[in-house]
Amino acid sequence: MRYDVAMHIPAQLEEIRQELAEAESVAQRAAGSVQLLAVSKTFPVSDIRQAYDCGQRLFGENRLQEALEKMPQMPSDCRWHLIGPLQRNKVRKALQAGFELIQAVDSLRLAEFMNRVAEEEAVCPAILLEVNVDGEASKHGFSPDELLEQWEQLTALTQIKIEGLMCIPAIQECEEDVRAAFARLRDLTEQLRQRGPLPLPQISMGMSSDFAAAIAEGATLVRVGSAIFGKRDYGHL
Ligand SMILES: *Cc1c(COP(=O)(O)O)cnc(C)c1O
Repeated sequence: MRYDVAMHIPAQLEEIRQELAEAESVAQRAAGSVQLLAVSKTFPVSDIRQAYDCGQRLFGENRLQEALEKMPQMPSDCRWHLIGPLQRNKVRKALQAGFELIQAVDSLRLAEFMNRVAEEEAVCPAILLEVNVDGEASKHGFSPDELLEQWEQLTALTQIKIEGLMCIPAIQECEEDVRAAFARLRDLTEQLRQRGPLPLPQISMGMSSDFAAAIAEGATLVRVGSAIFGKRDYGHL
């Protein structure tokens, strides 16, 4: 059952901001170097507005349709990221929606298709490439080897701006395993920066339960949902 989370949103958001600042400081990272993406999927616009009223402007949704319904209902200074998997038949709509960042481009094929549609639409979408950091066959994303192999083809796609990598590690039993997965994404980013030609400023990793560990391992963007908005109820969707 969903309790009235809206009343708790300002306090929870404030707590997350403090924990984020603390994690930056512990990791000896500059204050403000990690962006907080408030993941609002499944939550109503009234909840998103609570966060907005506390100064939050960056929001993430994982389903395109849901994002398209919410975006026009929020003030225009909100910035939106699409964080969920994207099917080819929804790419055009996603590009027309004006996301600040499309986070989960998970194959060369999808990147090439998006590049083509972006040319037709005359837009230059910013994207992240999703990496499967734990090598599970069932998961989305480039394997690290695949990404290295396909890097030249990817960087030849000049209509899309590849800003970095993202990952959603499998749920781990111990924090050390999660940290190791985050470290792999950071090392891979570093390797690709060395290869060039892209600066790859973004590393998107870390969610409600592990964002401090992600910051310790170099995250620039953490995606926090339930710790801000409360427990999700998928029932009404
Ligand atoms: C839902 C979601 C999150 C947020 O998860 P929480 O555990 O609620 O913080 C982060 N990233 C992605 C890709 C998600 O789909």
